[in-house]
Amino acid sequence: MYMGMSPFDAPGTYSLLQYTELAEGIWYPVGGFHAVVAAMVRICERLGVDIRLSTPVSRVIMSPDGKTATGVLTEAGDTLTADVVIINADLVYAYNNLLAPTPYSRSLQTRQGSCSSISFYWSLSRKVPELSTHNIFLADEYRESFDAIFDRQSIPREPSFYVNVPSRVDPSAAPEGKDSIVVLVPVGHLLNSSSSTTFTSPSKGLPKEELNWPALIASTRASILSVIQSRTHCDSLAPLITHEMVNDPITWEDTFNLDKGSILGLSHSFFNVLAFRPSTRARGLKGCYFVGASTHPGTGVPIVLAGAKVTTEQVLRDLGMEIPWTGMGGVEGKGKEKGEMDRVRRNGGLISDFGIWVLAIVVLVVSVLYVNSGLLVTWDWDRKRGWGSGSLEGAGLGMR
Ligand SMILES: Cc1cc2nc3c(=O)[nH]c(=O)nc-3n(C[C@H](O)[C@H](O)[C@H](O)COP(=O)(O)OP(=O)(O)OC[C@H]3O[C@@H](n4cnc5c(N)ncnc54)[C@H](O)[C@@H]3O)c2cc1C
Repeated sequence: MYMGMSPFDAPGTYSLLQYTELAEGIWYPVGGFHAVVAAMVRICERLGVDIRLSTPVSRVIMSPDGKTATGVLTEAGDTLTADVVIINADLVYAYNNLLAPTPYSRSLQTRQGSCSSISFYWSLSRKVPELSTHNIFLADEYRESFDAIFDRQSIPREPSFYVNVPSRVDPSAAPEGKDSIVVLVPVGHLLNSSSSTTFTSPSKGLPKEELNWPALIASTRASILSVIQSRTHCDSLAPLITHEMVNDPITWEDTFNLDKGSILGLSHSFFNVLAFRPSTRARGLKGCYFVGASTHPGTGVPIVLAGAKVTTEQVLRDLGMEIPWTGMGGVEGKGKEKGEMDRVRRNGGLISDFGIWVLAIVVLVVSVLYVNSGLLVTWDWDRKRGWGSGSLEGAGLGMR
């Protein structure tokens, strides 16, 4: 669900995520995700980087032939020239608003987007011990609620939602004796990209204008408050809320420029990952690169940070510059070259590479002899006894 996809549709590989979380645990930056930003700011300041806050970019400036990025133009009208432009804004929005529109940029808007959310951020006047750090409330009809969100891009009748209480593990997240709470209610994304006037959208999504958003948010709030109370048997949270912030599909799009309010960028369905995911190099534009959720490798803070490293190495390589962390575990392999991360390490393993090859050849020879011996491997569908139930049936390998 936190990939922005239905667990019934997500590629099975992602179930490994649950394994890693259970086996290895989860990292939490004390101070919240903003602590990661603050750490990066400290590094930038040490290196003399000029950071301009609240300075929206209106477009990327190109060379006269339109083939190379040469800087950016801010909404305030300032031109900033640059050897390299790295875009962190949502990739679909950026292709359609910051770069010259092309058939490719328009095609990105037809790609499957991740879900959106109605998110509540509450300061509570006291602790609510009935809530743990992570709390997932699944609708009784959870399959239907997933289909409503992820298939039909609508708002489920009965929501499934996630409640995080950071103050349970991080004392800096709330004053002593109080709790801070984040509620994430996944909902469909918007029907149309307001960032593009040239495109009519796919058929699924929430109609921005037709819906009564204040009423919708109020009913969602009432519904989750009631579910939390009835399932955890805590007192009503409503009178405890001393401060509240809300984000919804419209604010995700208007404030953060997330195309159609898709909170996790492009979906991670099969045709949106790996070779199909938009490249970190801007298409047809030298000196322009992407980082963030909708490019490689994908969404989520750790993944986006890992992706930023990939893009950085790409930029340095394109400029013919040295990658400072070469030999320190960086991903440097290109084509058939092997980087440190590509190598499988077997410290003191039971079998050497040579041993594995010998074993493989022995298995192959035995298999060929077995097949030629006339022994058949059969499958007993009814009793599902499986391979090797041992009937002899003419020559060759067969299945029944
Ligand atoms: C409610 C919610 C809960 C989440 N929970 C988790 C979680 O628990 N764990 C996790 O790992 N991930 C979580 N994520 C996902 C994670 O936040 C994103 O995947 C990640 O932040 C994406 O990083 P990004 O750099 O692509 O985009 P962003 O973090 O959105 O950064 C893009 C920046 O570009 C700026 N920008 C946009 N347009 C312009 C412009 N024209 N000019 C200048 N600046 C511009 C935006 O203001 C923004 O600051 C969550 C996301 C949401 C919405």
